[in-house]
Amino acid sequence: MTHIHHPIYPDQIGFDIDCVVADTMEAFIRLADQEHHISIAPEQITEFTVENCLAIDPDIIDSIFLRLLDAPLQNKLLPMENAVAVLAQFAHHAPLTFVTARPNRKPIFDWLEALLGPQIMAEARLVAMGDHNGKIDHIKELGISYFIDDRFETCEDIAAHGITAIVYNQPWNKNRHNLPTVKSWKEIEALCALGNRDVTPLPPSLPPCIVKTAVTL
Ligand SMILES: [Mg+2]
Repeated sequence: MTHIHHPIYPDQIGFDIDCVVADTMEAFIRLADQEHHISIAPEQITEFTVENCLAIDPDIIDSIFLRLLDAPLQNKLLPMENAVAVLAQFAHHAPLTFVTARPNRKPIFDWLEALLGPQIMAEARLVAMGDHNGKIDHIKELGISYFIDDRFETCEDIAAHGITAIVYNQPWNKNRHNLPTVKSWKEIEALCALGNRDVTPLPPSLPPCIVKTAVTL
């Protein structure tokens, strides 16, 4: 990790979901193989917009992502290594905050709830915006100061508005920005120095849960 010099308190930070909390590319590669007999190596995915780096019919790409948007549990979307354990630790200190470009809130809420449990998700704030652009508006409304995302364009936009954006390292953002980075959930845990903190929950100090905002694909 780079450039973050002080511990972040858990109520100050929010997370993107796909390719940060969820190992969406593992699921994409697996479904391409299982459903379409298309073999993809992880190192082939060098662009966030995978159509730009894979010679695959865009309709097939869309159909795989649609499955993962509509039914992440049924399609066995996995969490990133250590994500669940670290998020559960965060939840001891403050409600979790997620902002995703996904258009539908319920499928990904149910996926998070299956991983983290109903108690943690009853407190969590989850915005499904239906757009890759404009996360900054939600981040400001949610009152957080740090956000972790794998899309470097999103991080640059957030940073330009005075929020500390941290890029979760993935092949499609490597060497494309000058922002702070993390490469694992262990690094995220270290950023927040959770091991050094009193585990007494904070009184609620954040705006209430924001219900789904948008839209259709
Ligand atoms: Mg993402």
